[in-house]
Amino acid sequence: MKKMVPLKNTLILKASHPADVRYAGALLKAGQVVAIPTETVYGLGGLGLHAQSVASIYEAKNRPQHNPLILHVANLEMALSLWNLDGEDGARVRTCIETLAQLFWPGPLTLVAPKAAHVPGSVSAGLNSLAVRMPAHPVTRQLIEWVGEPLAAPSANVANRPSPTRAGHVMRSLSGRIAAVLDAGPCEAGIESTVVDVRSDPIKILRAGTISGAVLCDKLAISDISTANLGSPSHAPAVPTSPGQLSRHYAPSNTRLHLLGHESLQEAWQSGMSVLIRAATQARLSHELGDRPLNSLTFTMPDSPEAYGRALYGAFYNIEAQDLEEVGMEDLVPTSPMSPWWAIQDRLLRASYQGPK
Ligand code: AMP
Ligand code: MG
Repeated sequence: MKKMVPLKNTLILKASHPADVRYAGALLKAGQVVAIPTETVYGLGGLGLHAQSVASIYEAKNRPQHNPLILHVANLEMALSLWNLDGEDGARVRTCIETLAQLFWPGPLTLVAPKAAHVPGSVSAGLNSLAVRMPAHPVTRQLIEWVGEPLAAPSANVANRPSPTRAGHVMRSLSGRIAAVLDAGPCEAGIESTVVDVRSDPIKILRAGTISGAVLCDKLAISDISTANLGSPSHAPAVPTSPGQLSRHYAPSNTRLHLLGHESLQEAWQSGMSVLIRAATQARLSHELGDRPLNSLTFTMPDSPEAYGRALYGAFYNIEAQDLEEVGMEDLVPTSPMSPWWAIQDRLLRASYQGPK
């Protein structure tokens, strides 16, 4: 039988109150799990080098054991201590890490390199590689510095639910399952970090995220970046390079989401199906087809990818709160990692995937 997580009162702490931040730090130091703000989404923090805290994270999230965690660090030195860079290719990998850290840290770029032996195997779900990033949120970096060691911090939601971009979202699925949430208001990016494998030469994107392929290429002064084996839910790669990327993900719990191309969206508009569409698309449909039938719900999304990304999971939580059976979502179409819409489209694809997990 599955072990039940004992119920606790989850404290809501304020990141703007220094005493609350210190209390969150004390809870973490004592091995408890606490939801912490980052610039991407809220993370469920715990001591990353302590197997017991790591186990508590998996338990609170009900996260499958094969889905590895990202370790969050306060500086490059802390990151370098977590990888084994002594191998044949170590010097090249180290230079690559230093270059990417210089360009993108603190920020939403996660680097995957060979794991050091002292990092518990449960963090990396048994893989010999380890994912690490330095978050941009100053409060979380301060917490990591204060705790003095890396924090493991997957998204602070029960597995497969939408990622939380506000403290209230965290409470919807983890209230009673974790010690506290440190509320710092809405997240700036709203989409998870981009995960890059620096072991391969040239580097490879393992998970689409806040930093697009175009931005990576631009900063690295390269013309193209590989995403080989990334897969999509319906075209899973034979050998997964980034576990946790393959199944249905990020979706409201009771709603079937459909990704609709132009014609299907027009039909949905006319039939009165609830839809999630950009403001400009809504204006166009309304102009072309007239008003919607009464009682049909329209979830209006911003027109820029940055604002859309910030709003996406909040919209999923709104859909969840309405308890809708079906919602049609505007297909954003991009297939190129160079597009600023690419990571968002990836989340829509995974949220609407109806096949086997
Ligand atoms: P999150 O649930 O947002 O914390 O994201 C964790 C994700 O990072 C995992 O689901 C993987 O996609 C990726 N990841 C973490 N560790 C590794 C690793 N060692 N190798 C490849 N991908 C990883
Ligand atoms: Mg997650």
